[in-house]
Amino acid sequence: MRETARTADLLDWYDVHAREMPWRVAPARRTLGELPDPYRIWLSEVMLQQTTVAAVTAYFQRFTARWPTVADLAAAEDGDVMGEWAGLGYYARARNLLKCARVVVADHGGQFPPDHAALLKLPGIGPYTAAAISSIAFDAPETVVDGNVERVMARLHDIHTPLPAAKPELIAAATSLTPAQRPGDYAQAVMDLGATICTPRNPACGICPWRGPCAARANGTAPDLPKKIPKKPKPTRHGIAYVAQRSDGAILLERREDRGLLGGMLGWPGSDWAEGAARAAPPLDADWQTLNEEARHAFTHFHLRLRVEVAQVDMEAAPITGDFIPAAQFQPAQLPTVMRKVFDLARGSLRNSG
Ligand code: SF4
Repeated sequence: MRETARTADLLDWYDVHAREMPWRVAPARRTLGELPDPYRIWLSEVMLQQTTVAAVTAYFQRFTARWPTVADLAAAEDGDVMGEWAGLGYYARARNLLKCARVVVADHGGQFPPDHAALLKLPGIGPYTAAAISSIAFDAPETVVDGNVERVMARLHDIHTPLPAAKPELIAAATSLTPAQRPGDYAQAVMDLGATICTPRNPACGICPWRGPCAARANGTAPDLPKKIPKKPKPTRHGIAYVAQRSDGAILLERREDRGLLGGMLGWPGSDWAEGAARAAPPLDADWQTLNEEARHAFTHFHLRLRVEVAQVDMEAAPITGDFIPAAQFQPAQLPTVMRKVFDLARGSLRNSG
């Protein structure tokens, strides 16, 4: 049995307060039968995993200007897509993005399938993304549960079981509210409520469309929910990055292995990243200078500190790893963030480095 009164209150709120997003079709237009392009919903959902709407918007606009359809993206060069993705992080997503676009073109005639089970078979699409595409792009009654929805459901029902054990209970709560009519708007409405009203700190209960039935509001527990098992502190790993510039200005870079962290992205030759002292032979013989400052970056599971070694080399330099990229072709913006941090530290020691 759907809880229709609560759902109706939320949809009324969404009709007035829906956030504008470049991939979204506003509720007034959806009511007239317009649905968003599944390609744009898929792309936005993949970009939004682990990333905020604010961070994603510019990337989304660049991607869709350069590759307006899934067929355009499927035909793109891998390096171009990885370059456009640089800075968004979680680079396995970009590799799967390309794989998925190519499967959609090869096996589905360039159209995303509407149903959850078929979407789940596509590369890089897990249960959350499949539900989001089905619901938002095809208006299928799937329940979409992200971090915002978990928080709202934990508060609405005053659920104190800590995450992740609480997930089944939170999904059941969200499912019980998913309507047969307008499920796509409902999914987006709960996410908007969590992002703008039922925020992690200081929820604005006074203007919330669910302030009446909300159990956590009544019990005064909202700011403490959802409960989470405390995370272990992240370890720190160490590494070395070698930045070499040839006398014609060319810069030594290597494309990383497809598998693993930052797979398929451009980066500096260097060591593995480990918790002990870093060791690696330089990519060529040179007078390497160690910079005083390390590049620091936080990944999901560890902190990284990279020692930066810089060298100027002559035209005969023959690296054992990587290739010299001509100065005119080198675009720091196409490096992943940690590699760009290394470049920002090294650039003062390089010629014509902008
Ligand atoms: S009343 Fe407050 S705690 Fe409850 S759903 Fe609304 S914003 Fe969240």
